[in-house]
Amino acid sequence: MTDFAPTQTLSFPGDPVPARQGVDVLLPLAAPQRKARLLVVDDQPIHLQVLYRALAGECQMFMANSCEQALRVCREQLPDLVLLDVVMPDMDGFEVLQQLKAQPETADIPVIFVTAHGGEEIETQCLQAGAVDFIPKPVNPNVVKARVRTHLTLKFQSDFLRDMAFMDGLTAVSNRRHFDERLALEWGRAQRTGSALSLVLLDVDFFKAYNDHYGHQAGDDCLRQIASLLKAELRRPTDLVARYGGEEFVCLLPDTAHDDALVLAERMLRAVRGAQMAHLFSDVAPVVTVSLGVATREGLDTSGRAAYLLALADAQLYLAKRTGRAKVCGARLPANGGPGALT
Ligand code: GH3
Ligand code: MG
Ligand code: MG
Repeated sequence: MTDFAPTQTLSFPGDPVPARQGVDVLLPLAAPQRKARLLVVDDQPIHLQVLYRALAGECQMFMANSCEQALRVCREQLPDLVLLDVVMPDMDGFEVLQQLKAQPETADIPVIFVTAHGGEEIETQCLQAGAVDFIPKPVNPNVVKARVRTHLTLKFQSDFLRDMAFMDGLTAVSNRRHFDERLALEWGRAQRTGSALSLVLLDVDFFKAYNDHYGHQAGDDCLRQIASLLKAELRRPTDLVARYGGEEFVCLLPDTAHDDALVLAERMLRAVRGAQMAHLFSDVAPVVTVSLGVATREGLDTSGRAAYLLALADAQLYLAKRTGRAKVCGARLPANGGPGALT
C-alpha cells in the first residue's frame, strides 16, 4: 500500500459532507439516503490507485490489499459492491467469493472480478462462481465506472424490494414475514449459544371501540403513532418491532434477559399511555393504552421451539387482558417446556 490506509474510509477533496451522511444523487430509482459503499481488493497498490481515482467521486471507498482483509471489511462494513482481484498472494478471489456466499450476512454482496488473466474460460469460471460481472485488466476507468453504476443500481433496487417485502404497509415497521424469519434465526442462535431471547407481544386495549367512535382512519393514525412510539423505545440495532397483525405488535429482543425485557415492556406501556391519545370509550383510561405479554428463553436448553415462546407471550398477553388491561405480564419459558408447560 502506498498512500492508502487499508480498510480506511477515504474522503474526497472538496467533499463538505461526511461520507456516511452524504446523499447520493447517482441512483434515481430507489436511491438510498447514503453514498454507495464500494470495496476494492487488489494486492498491487497501483491497481488500487487507478480504481480509487475512477470511483472515489461517486462512492464511499474501502480498500483492501489481501483477501483476509477483504473478508473482514465485508463482515464489518457490508459494502454494496466488491471489485475483487482474482489472483492474490494469500488466497484467490474464488475462495473469497465462496466464503462470502457461505455466510447469510455477506451472501448477497455482489462481486465483480477484475483480472489480467482474461479469456472466455476464466470469464465463464468467474460468472459460474457467482460473480455478477467480470472486468479485464488493464481497466478502462470509464468502463469500470459504467459497470459499477449498473451493479449499484441493481443492488439498491433489490435492497429496496427486499425492504418493501419486509415492511408493514400501514405502519412502516417490520411485517409478520420479517418477524417470523428473524425469530427463526434468533431462536437458532439462542439455542446454539445459550443467550437469552425475549419477546414482547402487545395489543391495543378496546381498539374496536376506538374505531367505532373515532373512525377507521383515526384508528390507522393511532396504529402508526403506536408503531413509532414502540420503535423509539428500542435501544439496540438487533431489536426488532413488527406489526403482528391487526392492532397487535411484537418486539423481538435478542440477548435480552427476562428482567430487562420487563423493564422495556413497562417503558412501552408508559410511552403509549404518555402520548395521551384520547380514547373516551375505553374502560381502563380516557387515553389509548396497551396490554403486553413478555416471554423469555434463557440458558443452554436445546429443547423447545420458537412457537412455544410465542405461545407463552400470547398467554401472558391474555393474562394481562384478563386481569385489568393496560399492564405487563411476563414469564420465562420453562426448561423442556413444550406447549403443555404453558397451560
Ligand atoms: P381488547 O382490549 O380485548 O384487545 O379489545 P379490542 O376491542 O382491542 O379487541 P378486538 O379484537 O375486539 O378488536 C380489534 C379491533 O382492531 C377491531 C378491528 O377493527 C381493529 N383493527 C384491526 N386492524 C386494524 C387496522 O389496520 N386499522 C384499524 N383502524 N383498525 C384495525
Ligand atoms: Mg385489542
Ligand atoms: Mg387483538
